[in-house]
Order: sequence, then C-alpha cells, then structure tokens
Amino acid sequence: MQITNYINGQWLDPSGMECFQTINPHSKAILEQIGESTIDDMKAAIDAANAASEGWKHMPSPKRGHYLIEAAKWLADHLEEIAYDLTREIGKTIGEAKGEVNRSIQTLYYYAAEGLQPIGEVIPSSNENILIYTKREPIGPVGLITPWNFPIAIPTWKLAPALIYGNTVVLKPSEYAPKSAYYLMKALDHARIPAGVVNCVFGTQVDIGKTLVDSEKIKGISFTGSTEVGKIIGVQAASKGKKVQLEMGGKNAIVVLKDANLQKAVDSIITDAYSAAGQKCTAASRILIEAEVYNQVKNMLKERTEEIAIGDPHKEGTLLGPVATEKQYDLVQQKMENGKATMNLVIEKNIEMQEGYYIKPTIFETKDPVSEFIDQEIFGPVITLLEINNMNEAIKEVNRSKYGLSASIFTTNLENAQRFIQHVDVGMVHINTGTVFTELQAPFGGMKDSSYGPKEQGKEAIEFYTMSKTIYQSI
Ligand code: NAD
Repeated sequence: MQITNYINGQWLDPSGMECFQTINPHSKAILEQIGESTIDDMKAAIDAANAASEGWKHMPSPKRGHYLIEAAKWLADHLEEIAYDLTREIGKTIGEAKGEVNRSIQTLYYYAAEGLQPIGEVIPSSNENILIYTKREPIGPVGLITPWNFPIAIPTWKLAPALIYGNTVVLKPSEYAPKSAYYLMKALDHARIPAGVVNCVFGTQVDIGKTLVDSEKIKGISFTGSTEVGKIIGVQAASKGKKVQLEMGGKNAIVVLKDANLQKAVDSIITDAYSAAGQKCTAASRILIEAEVYNQVKNMLKERTEEIAIGDPHKEGTLLGPVATEKQYDLVQQKMENGKATMNLVIEKNIEMQEGYYIKPTIFETKDPVSEFIDQEIFGPVITLLEINNMNEAIKEVNRSKYGLSASIFTTNLENAQRFIQHVDVGMVHINTGTVFTELQAPFGGMKDSSYGPKEQGKEAIEFYTMSKTIYQSI
C-alpha cells in the first residue's frame, strides 16, 4: 500500500524529490518509503479545504454525521489490519492498538450523534417583541497537527468534532506514524466525504506544518505534541489572529496514602507507568507514597516490575513493547543515565533483546527530586518514588511541576480526596483510578504548561470548533 497525500478528494503523490522511511521499532526493519511533501502540496490542501468550506458549513449537521458513521463502519471492518500496522509503526502492544482503533470508531459515532444536539440557546429579552438567541457556527478551515503516540485516536478526536460542527480540515500527522492517519483518510474517502472537506499532507519538513499555521485561510490550529513545539505554534498562530488549542506534555503524579487499597493502587501504577511503554501524555511518572506504607508499596512495585511481560508487541500477553523511535530511545536512555547519577535505583529489570528500541522498565527513588525529574517528561517506562509525610506535602509535590495534566490519589478517606480535588492544579483529577484513565465523552486537557485553549473531546470540543453568534429578532 503506497501512502500518498489526500487532497481535494484525490490520492496524490507528494511532490518532493526526497523520501522518508518508517521503521518498525521492534525489529528496526524499514516499513514504508513515503514521498516528502512540499510547501506547494500543503498550499494545495489548504486551498481545497478553503474551497469546500462554504458548502460543508451549510450542510445540515445530521447529514454531516452520516459521513462520520460511514467512516466508523469502514474502520470497524478493517480494525485488525489497522491495529496490526499501528503496532508495527510505533510498537504499541496489539491489545492497546486495537483499543486505540476502537476509540477512534467510538469517537466518530459519538460526534455523529452530537450533530443532533442543540447548537444554541434562547435568552429572555426585556422587550416583549424581541427574541434573542445564540447559534454556534464553524470557525472555518482548521489545521490539525498531531503526534505519533496515539496516531489514529488523536487525529480522530480532533477531526470528528471539527467536521460535525461544519469545519473543513487539513491534517498534518506525525512523520513517525503516517499509516494510521492514512487509514483514517481511507475511511473518510470510503464514506464519500465531499472533495476538499478533509485533506492530509505527509512529510518530515517543519516548513509544511509552518505553512499550515501561517496560512490566512486557516482559521484555527489544534495541536497535540510537545510543549516546546506547542509554544512556538501557539505564538505563530495567535499572531495571525487564529484560534489556538494546544495539548502538550505532562509529568503526572499518583499519590498513595496509608489508608489506600494498596493492591488497587499498585495495579494502576503498573498500567499507568508501563502501558504504551510510558509514552502517554497522561502516563504516571511521579509516585508519592505516604511514609507508613512506603516500603510495602515499593516492594510490591518492584515485584510487579520483575514479572512484567516484555517483548514482541504483536504477541498477545505482552505488556511492554519497545519505545516508538530511535530518537525516543536515545532521549530516554539519556534521561535514565541522568537518573542513575542523581537518584537511587530501585530496579532496572533485565531484558534480553538483541534488536529493537527496548528500554528496561525502571524505578528510581529519591528524597529530593532534581528539577529535571519534576519538570521533564521521560516518555519511557520509568517512574520515580518519593516518600511523603502527609496530604499537605502530597499536594505541594503534585503542584511543583510546571505541567498540570492528570493526577491521581489512592485513599479511602473522603476528606483527603476532597482536599485533593480542590487543591491540585491539574486538568484531570482521579480518585482511586489511574492517571491514564479517560473516556471520550468527557473533556480532556490540562492546566499550566500542559494545555492552552479550550479542552478537547466530549461536548466541550464545541468551544474550539465553533464561534457563537447572538441574534436579536424583532417579532
Ligand atoms: P512534537 O511536538 O515533536 O510533534 C508534534 C507534531 O508537530 C508532529 O506532527 C510534528 O511533525 C509537528 N511539528 C513539529 N515542529 C513543528 C513546527 N515548527 N510547526 C508545525 N508543526 C510542527 O511531539 P511528538 O514527539 O510527536 O509527540 C510527543 C509529545 O506529545 C509528548 O510531549 C506528549 O506529552 C505530547 N502529547 C500530548 C497529549 C495531550 O493531549 N496533552 C497527547 C499525546 C501526546
């Protein structure tokens, strides 16, 4: 299957002279050779989205929903194949890959149904002859820029609300995981979405993304990726007067109090630390444990890490596969070295892998974490334990990070849970559930350096993808 751009309803070869490759992180084998797109390819996609905008905007949203339903059906029919390729592309275990494709399908159905929901409200007027009401309208063509770690779910949870509320789309997916986005385009093409409503441009060159962010024809940019890139894009987009939505990094903490169900807490920490090899923005990274149960929890985590099934991500039962790319592997290894130089190593599980970008699941402990371990994502299967004496210390530690995406507390004390909810500066708070737990019908996003602009997913997605018009009508 040759991966090509999808522009104005056509499959077009990228017009650059060069190619880039995708690599299977388990075997390091080359998977695909994909042509590099040029600025002209991106301009053609933007023009197509702009030309299709008026027609799509005025199509009734229940009709728009029909295309999402048809795309969802196509993805469901091809779930096994898409999940298989997703695992080959980024090393996510096959179980997680199937879960991710399924999430995309459910997201399409959810937003298809949102097309039947109210898009405004009636406001009482002080004048008996006046009717005041509001009406949500699309913002226009939008640019979506997405990362590699959820290569089909994230493009879908941006694209589905964008479309249902009447916006046309240009997607610039991650260069490390193009095939998942390509399948999403296939699904929409199969649904016979009108030409130009959805467009997708592949490539590694920063100029392609920059052209999208800079274009006068693009009215909003929704970005998910690193905080570093997000901040650059945010400034660039805002300077052109666009709406901006940024979902960025995290350094998420789990607090375990002495009255917690420790088994439940440990189960969650293991999942939150090691699923997707720790490469989730919501992954647990800092584990804050109350002194009375510190050693017990540490030993339980050590035991569970020893038992973890590591290896071929296509094999059922594997919990931990490789990290997604060589770049990611080098970055995590570097951070592990820094960790060893500044913290106590609790466990670094030995693994016998000749090939592939495999990182040993690792637990550090410290009494005084260096700033790097508070403010820098590791994005690998690595956690740091810290002993805390009480709730005040726990809240202070959670809030010490510049990030504010997700945080959990394990406790059976309602008062402590309530204080946690009130005082932690994060966008998603979990009580006796892990930091990675999310559902598509609930708003997703963080505070501080984790997010900027309206939240994604659920009903709140309407905030970014529409603007409100107020109507005063004399009767
Ligand atoms: P990245 O920032 O390197 O790249 C993200 C996307 O931006 C890619 O498509 C890339 O090609 C593009 N890009 C890079 N520079 C650009 C520029 N100057 N102009 C326009 N586009 C540009 O991130 P990544 O390595 O792909 O993803 C990992 C990061 O994503 C982690 O930090 C993770 O926490 C974050 N993430 C956040 C969430 C969330 O919802 N908060 C979800 C998933 C991942």
